[in-house]
Amino acid sequence: MAVMVAGGAGYIGSHTVAELLDRGQDVVVVDSLVKGHKQAVLGGKLYIGDIRDAAFMDSVFESNPIDSVIHFAADIEVGLSMKDPLAFYRNNVYTVMCMLESMKKHGVKNIVFSSTAAVYGYPKSVPITEDSEKNPVNPYGETKLTVEKMLRWCDKAYGIKWAAPRYFNAAGAHESARIGEDHNPESHLIPIVIQAAMGKRESVMVFGQDYDTPDGTCIRDYIHVTDLADAHILALEYLKSGGQSASFNLGSGSGYSVTEIIEKVKEVTGKSFRVDIAPRREGDPARLVADSRLAKEMLGWHPKNDDIGKIIESAWKWHTTHPDGFNE
Ligand code: NAD
Ligand code: UDP
Repeated sequence: MAVMVAGGAGYIGSHTVAELLDRGQDVVVVDSLVKGHKQAVLGGKLYIGDIRDAAFMDSVFESNPIDSVIHFAADIEVGLSMKDPLAFYRNNVYTVMCMLESMKKHGVKNIVFSSTAAVYGYPKSVPITEDSEKNPVNPYGETKLTVEKMLRWCDKAYGIKWAAPRYFNAAGAHESARIGEDHNPESHLIPIVIQAAMGKRESVMVFGQDYDTPDGTCIRDYIHVTDLADAHILALEYLKSGGQSASFNLGSGSGYSVTEIIEKVKEVTGKSFRVDIAPRREGDPARLVADSRLAKEMLGWHPKNDDIGKIIESAWKWHTTHPDGFNE
């Protein structure tokens, strides 16, 4: 049987495809390549198309023995979601609805869906457990929470089993450095700081230095992309062995401030660069740190690359060997 990886040419999807292939799984990737990269797909079959195209999806399901889906496909930029919420409902809710309709039609009963820490909004305390209040403060987080609710109803009505890992900050690259993060435009902190270290940016802007944190900058929980990939595969095994549908956090449990990340990149790379203080970015909580005990207990998940220096080293190796990302 084969696993369909929707959005498998993107950052986290391509690393999950690599892990599945390493484990001898048959993989079918579906990606529009609107954001993803063909070269990021290291094997399996790649079908280029949009999940909202029902005829295209029928042909993929009909030509392959697919028994489960990992769904990464979404728009991911929080700032854009504030400017154009409808575009986010269209791609982050309607696309998953189309996927579920295709799964229902073709009798596929297991889905792992990418959720996010953004469902918690401004948490009252950290580390965040799954039962913390869900109050998204941007349309991006809201669309992910909406899908989690949609999945609950689909389980009740159609018996579709789901797992919704809520990731904190994905970072790092595959140990081979053959694949890594290549978002355009890039908005994530670690690749931006690395671009400054490589001399590709004049400076790094720190969005706010007046938060209620020890150094005044925001604290985040960075989780290596390979550990995320591993958790998705464990979640599929969990569902296939009869596990109940569930949402769960995926993070390292350690928080690093923006300033600490900048200092760590300087230490790992031996490079220095200009750092400017900028105003706060709208919708940024001061601290987001995961309590991932549920994923560890439920899936037997053990993140292996939780050293922030190693995470940055792996990203540095990818970016320096691919200064133009996949476009070379
Ligand atoms: P990405 O943009 O690199 O990958 C998404 C992929 O989906 C792209 O290859 C894109 O072409 C494809 N896609 C989008 N819409 C599609 C559609 N309608 N039909 C077919 N293909 C489509 O994003 P990523 O960083 O790998 O994130 C993957 C998932 O993880 C997203 O759902 C995101 O919301 C979630 N997530 C990411 C992070 C992070 O730190 N990157 C954190 C939390 C959650
Ligand atoms: N950040 C920053 N400068 C940048 C990009 C990000 O100061 O150029 C900060 C951002 O405000 C947040 C943290 O770095 O506090 C992580 O941001 P990122 O966009 O990587 O992930 P998010 O937590 O928003 O998902």
